Amino acid sequence: MKLLTFRHPEGPRPGVALTDTICLDLIAADPSLPILWNELFGHMDHVRELAAQWSAPSGVIDGVPVFRAGKYPLLPPVIHPPKIMAVGLNYRDHAEEQNKTPPPAPMFFSKASTCLQAHLGPIALDHDLLQVDAEAELAVVIGRAGRRIEREAAEEHIAGYMCMNDVSDREAQHADRQFYRGKSIDTGGPCGPWIVTPDELPPLAKGLEITGSINGEVLQHSNTDQLIFPIDELIAHISSHMTLLPGDIISTGTPAGVGVYRDPQRFLRPGDVAEVTVEGVGVLTNPVIAV
Ligand code: ZN
Repeated sequence: MKLLTFRHPEGPRPGVALTDTICLDLIAADPSLPILWNELFGHMDHVRELAAQWSAPSGVIDGVPVFRAGKYPLLPPVIHPPKIMAVGLNYRDHAEEQNKTPPPAPMFFSKASTCLQAHLGPIALDHDLLQVDAEAELAVVIGRAGRRIEREAAEEHIAGYMCMNDVSDREAQHADRQFYRGKSIDTGGPCGPWIVTPDELPPLAKGLEITGSINGEVLQHSNTDQLIFPIDELIAHISSHMTLLPGDIISTGTPAGVGVYRDPQRFLRPGDVAEVTVEGVGVLTNPVIAV
C-alpha cells in the first residue's frame, strides 16, 4: 500500500493511493479512525480492509470516500514525527568522495520537524543561503514503538519507506561544527510522495536503485545495497539508546555526488527542480524558490 496524508478542506487527512490516479480518504471511509499516521499505524489491518473494499471497481470516482489523485494537495506523509533522525556517511561511495574511511558505527544526527515539506512543495531558500545541497535518501518510517530492538526484530517495527531529500546548508553545517541547524532549514525536509509498506519491497528495502537529480540531470546514483549500515542495524543501534515511536523517521544516508563535493560545486538555486527517486518507492519532486 501507498500511505499518504493530504490537505482536506477540514484539515490534514490520511489516505491510501489505490491506483496511480485514485485515492481513498480513510476518514471519510471510517470517521472513527485517528487522523495521524502515528496513531493509524496501530490499525493497519483495518486500513488494509478498507483499501481492499474500496479498490474493487465500483464505477464511483470523485465520490466519497474515493477521490482523484491531485484533487487535494499532498502533505508530508507523517506530519508530526516524534523524531527525525538521519545518518551521515552511510554509503561507501559517499565516504570515498570525502576521503573518509567508513565509520565503525552509524553516525546519527537530527533534523527539526519544522523542516518537513511535501512532494511538489517548494524548497524555499532565503537570499543568503548560497551553499544549500540536495541529498537523495531512502527514509524508514517506524510503525511500532520499541527500545533495544534486536536486528532480527527490526522489520516488525517498520511501517514503510519513503523518499527523502536531506536538504543541507553546508555553510551552517561547517560553521556550527554540528549538523542540526544546517539540516533543519524550513522546507529542507521534503519527503514522500507517500509511504510504501514493506510488503511491496524486498526485505529491509535492499537492492533498490536510488537517484538524486537536479533539473533532470542525475547527480547521485547508487543502490541501497551500498549502505554501510543496513536498516536493521540502524534500528538496533539507535534503539539501544532511545525509544523509537510510531511516526519516527530515519533517513538512511545519501550516496556520492552531492553538490558540495563536486568540481565545480553545484548548490541548489531558485528555479531548480530537485528530484529523489527510489526504485519501487516513488519519485519525490520539489521546485526550489527564493523567499
Ligand atoms: Zn543526509
